[in-house]
Amino acid sequence: MAHFAFVSAPASGHVNPTLPLVEELVRRGHRVSYATGPATADGAARAGATPVVLPSELPPDLDARGEFTADQLAVTLNHFLDDAAVSFPVLAAHFEQDRPDAVCYDSVTFTGRMLANLLDVPEVALVPTFAENERFSATQVYLPPDFDHQHPELVAAIGRMAEFASGFTFLDDPNLMFGHVAPTNVVFVPKSFQPAADTFDDRFHFVGPSLGTWQQAERWSPASDSPVLLVSLGTVFNSRPDFYRTCVAAFGDGPWEVVMSIGDLDPALLGPLPANVSAHARVPQVAVLRHASVFVSHAGMNSVMESLHHGVPLVTVPQIPEQRAIAARAAELGVGVALEDETPDGLRAAVSAASANRAAVEELGEVVRACGGARAAADVLDELVGP
Ligand code: UDP
Repeated sequence: MAHFAFVSAPASGHVNPTLPLVEELVRRGHRVSYATGPATADGAARAGATPVVLPSELPPDLDARGEFTADQLAVTLNHFLDDAAVSFPVLAAHFEQDRPDAVCYDSVTFTGRMLANLLDVPEVALVPTFAENERFSATQVYLPPDFDHQHPELVAAIGRMAEFASGFTFLDDPNLMFGHVAPTNVVFVPKSFQPAADTFDDRFHFVGPSLGTWQQAERWSPASDSPVLLVSLGTVFNSRPDFYRTCVAAFGDGPWEVVMSIGDLDPALLGPLPANVSAHARVPQVAVLRHASVFVSHAGMNSVMESLHHGVPLVTVPQIPEQRAIAARAAELGVGVALEDETPDGLRAAVSAASANRAAVEELGEVVRACGGARAAADVLDELVGP
């Protein structure tokens, strides 16, 4: 029996895809300690891990900074550094007392990499989105063309990262958050969805997504016989009352049963909803997808994988560069229609175009369901730590 330390920022898009792996490791008799912030610790506990609750939070106004200009990215990096400055000592103290055999960390949660380095145990990057290597960077490709890489505040933030890392673990790579390629990477995306797939060597294990037990247990039933249209912008970049209002204008009193996930947004901002439209802070997404005909999604990787898994064609409304990369890949593979024209007519046209993608979605869904998921990921970890 081995002891695995998992480390992730408290973002459900990063923690959720790792939870079926936690469940599988626990099923195999291993012990998992999952270090994350209060927002995601309960999910880790439900999957069978012992939560190690860190004083870690996402930037409260991350949503407002979706476009990632250089100065905004600097603010975000500085938040993660401030967060790491208080979280890392807690993380290190905990695992120095209860040493793991390996540290499995969310690929952008650099404190996990620092922990592996500090304890001198194997590191595994868990990649919830496109993998990046020395030759392919999704982030660089989809940043706006005028992105100012030399912006003084960005350069200063990266410099601060280098200082922070050298203070703790003597890493000499100046950019802790981007560009590091771990010796072992578990990618929760099928290789056929990965751009530049043939540039990835055997350090990368494309195991694809898995559904967690909790997701499979959630239930939802339609309120009518109409086809179901699910609308969600995910859990982070979702404060877009204008967009939801456009959905209401496009589909209100129409032939769809429209189910919208609007996060923390005040539903009053949407005005009175027509009888065929409902808005919820959270929906049991996988359960709704079992009944959905089309998914209007921000193209978060988990949402896209869950949609393909259930054979549901996508209309994509990406909010940040990473989501634009995912939306572009979905379009390239014929499984997603990018929403170009954010008007009621544009939305209706995109939804009807998406329905024509059903065969391609079925085909890729087959791949998504067959590529190994949590079991294949647990095999990689078993092999890493040995008997
Ligand atoms: N999710 C959910 N209900 C909601 C909104 C989101 O269950 O109302 C889940 C969704 O199924 C997915 C995750 O939250 O597993 C969102 O991850 P994704 O990568 O799609 O987007 P993010 O929230 O990270 O932008």
